[in-house]
Amino acid sequence: MTTPMFEQFHALKAQAPDAILFFRMGDFYETFFEDAVVAAEVLELTLTSRNKDDPEPIPMAGVPHHAAGAYVQRLVDAGHKVAIAEQVEDPAEAKGLVRRELVRVVTPGIVLDPGALDARAPNWLAAVHVSRGAWGLAVLDVSTGDLRQCDASALAVVVDELSRLEPREVLVSPTVAGDDRAVLDDVLRRGGVVLSEVDEGAWASAEAWRTLTETLGVADLAGFGARRGGVGVSAAGAVVRYARGSMRAPLGNVHRLRTWTPGGFMVLDEATRRNLEITRTMLGGRRAGSLLGLLDRTRTAMGGRMLREWVGAPLRDPAGIAARHDAVAALVDASDALAALRDVLRTVSDLERLGARVAQGTANARDLVALGRSLGAIPGLHAATAPVPAVARLLPADPLADVAADIGRWLVDEPPPTTTEGGMIREGADPGLDAIIRDALDGHGILARLEADEREATGITSLRIKHNKVFGYFFEVTRANAHRVPDRFLRKQTLTGAERFITPELKELEDRVLGADERRRALEHRLFMALRDRVALALPRLGVAARRIAGVDALGALAEAAVRLDWTRPTLSEQGVLEVDGGRHPVVEASVEPGTYVANDLRLDVASRRLVVLTGPNMAGKSTVLRMAALIVLLAQVGSFVPARRAVIGLADRIFTRVGAADDLSAGRSTFMVEMAETASILHHATAHSLVVLDEIGRGTSTYDGLAIAWAVAEDLVDRVGCRALFATHYHELCELGDTRPTVANQSVAVRASGEQILFLRTLVEGGASRSYGIACARLAGLPRPVVERAKTLLTHFEKHAPRNDAHQLSLFGATPATPPATVDEPAPDPAAERVITALRALDPDALSPRDAHAALYRLRALAEGSGGA
Ligand code: ADP
Repeated sequence: MTTPMFEQFHALKAQAPDAILFFRMGDFYETFFEDAVVAAEVLELTLTSRNKDDPEPIPMAGVPHHAAGAYVQRLVDAGHKVAIAEQVEDPAEAKGLVRRELVRVVTPGIVLDPGALDARAPNWLAAVHVSRGAWGLAVLDVSTGDLRQCDASALAVVVDELSRLEPREVLVSPTVAGDDRAVLDDVLRRGGVVLSEVDEGAWASAEAWRTLTETLGVADLAGFGARRGGVGVSAAGAVVRYARGSMRAPLGNVHRLRTWTPGGFMVLDEATRRNLEITRTMLGGRRAGSLLGLLDRTRTAMGGRMLREWVGAPLRDPAGIAARHDAVAALVDASDALAALRDVLRTVSDLERLGARVAQGTANARDLVALGRSLGAIPGLHAATAPVPAVARLLPADPLADVAADIGRWLVDEPPPTTTEGGMIREGADPGLDAIIRDALDGHGILARLEADEREATGITSLRIKHNKVFGYFFEVTRANAHRVPDRFLRKQTLTGAERFITPELKELEDRVLGADERRRALEHRLFMALRDRVALALPRLGVAARRIAGVDALGALAEAAVRLDWTRPTLSEQGVLEVDGGRHPVVEASVEPGTYVANDLRLDVASRRLVVLTGPNMAGKSTVLRMAALIVLLAQVGSFVPARRAVIGLADRIFTRVGAADDLSAGRSTFMVEMAETASILHHATAHSLVVLDEIGRGTSTYDGLAIAWAVAEDLVDRVGCRALFATHYHELCELGDTRPTVANQSVAVRASGEQILFLRTLVEGGASRSYGIACARLAGLPRPVVERAKTLLTHFEKHAPRNDAHQLSLFGATPATPPATVDEPAPDPAAERVITALRALDPDALSPRDAHAALYRLRALAEGSGGA
């Protein structure tokens, strides 16, 4: 159907074809066609149609304009984009069809509504481009004006950076194709990220250069570390163009382009972030219960975002880490200064997002007052940190006192939320405004006098002057008194209990009072806009101050955590070591009864003790030890103190953690496949400087398969990669690695057994565990009594039929576990023989001294006799 209105609709729709079009019609935004079907479904609206009697009615669904914000947000949260088309002329004056224009497109990556933003997390819009094998990544947060770009050597690097930044929306260049595209799609889909295609032209490097220099107001980008023709620069150009196009406005708060080097940070892949529960818990995805949840007592939202960024991107540069340790240490030692600093920070608002609102022209007088008040706190920050020069010099050198004074001079302390109703400007700020206000007040005074006079004249004591929008000012008299009004009163309206009148005198006064009010509102609005424009000129300075305050807030939070949780400053080392005395898992410690957490010591050293094989029953605390090690290294490189009595940390380039049996059914991959894919990625990417933490790898398949894989993976880590590694396992057989390789040690988490009871001691001891206590655990977990009893009988049976009577778990499966007794077709493998073969394979005859060879022979014989390795 082609009416002029639908022609207009289709023309607007063509400007943002992938967005749901909100088409303004009077007091409603209407959606049509497929958009209406989607909107009705997501927003639970009634689906109607435009022309019910037509053979092909057009589906339609609408929302009232005053509630549109919430509806738009629900659509965006569901992964849709929404284009807003407004009426841009007054329908009363329009000749024919009202003109409409697209005023903005709201997408997940471009959210401006403060209510829809998480104050403590950035809202990144990212862009990914590849050109002749080189990758580029850019991110922009329009709510703070933060713009960054980097060049990357490979897609894997881009994927790791995306998993660190967690963008809401990613723009993808058409050059990302084939397998690369499939990998990227998969990663983004699993992260629930919206993917937007952007045409080839937007990524052209000349175009990007022009867009960026124009937006940043500079002639060259070299000062920002950007390279002409760089792939990251192309991505940055595309991201800025997309944002400008969606917002239909220039980006007034983007003043800097930051260039980063992906290798500058410790790499934490997606699985590791998830396993270590850095910013959210594995179950439920909540912030409370995560490392960040424990750590983040920042006082400002921007400090919260900064700390989140630090925790997600630990440093590798020893000087950078030491600088943060120095500042935290200084604050820990100066507890009064720390408390004073944190008190002042409480009064600082989110300068970054306020700045963005100023740039976008949406800041109201309350926003400016909050901004001015926050700037006014900067001298207080300096005063509080005066005893801590290491921190004081990180604060803004420029307190923007001129801006704070300008705001303070013009705006009242508690202005109203609207900018059109007056009441914002301070008395005495503008003589013209004061005169108008006086005039209005005079008018009000005269009105009061008139009311008193007419009461007197008519003798009606209940006579009142009232006001409403329709009639303006009028006299109101009760029904009973209506007959007493004089003839000069003109009846205007009759109500059930009252009559309303006007007089020429009253109307004259009304013009004066209302006229003054009108003039006052208009003048206040003009004065406010002028002030906001002046503040906008200071936005680049404001951005610098905001980041500095955010950094100090984050350091203050690290110091507060160090004091509150009793953490210590770690010593950094260039050697491949990890020495922890009295280490604790910070989140587990916070979750158990106070005073019951058992601290543990841990040693790793690439030269002499690369791998610790950790055994012990379920629930003993193996995973906790593993994660403790990873978190201590991570925290140290974030610049934080660590939960230990003493720690020496050899810097890690990456931390990998893998947990067996993590299901990913939503992605259609079996548990075991996920586990193996993740393990493969470790073996491909780990270096001698990495820390690898493996928890129960190889459990997703049959026992022999699983053991074989676990064994081979452990060997490869020790022999080829040569990194520091911890391997928690139920395969006690793996303890033999410790017997055949000098750089592998066996440890276990101690338990004490008495009868059926097991007591978890939580203490890490040297040597492998002898038993799994699986049945005892099962009983604790509430397995029915008869099943537990049956399991015990079976266990005794298996152990009796095991070919070797040590307590190795594998031996339990040496005989076919079945009743009635089974016929065994194949001879059971002889574990002793396997042990000898493995030990033999591990020998390097060329590297053995005669004495070592002699010792090796003895060890082999012991293995053959079944007495080694137990
Ligand atoms: P495993 O990996 O051996 O099955 P976990 O590491 O998951 O065991 O620990 C199980 C539970 O034991 C933890 O959730 C925690 O409540 C408790 N726990 C672990 N380590 C300690 C410790 N060092 N001190 C006190 N409680 C601990």
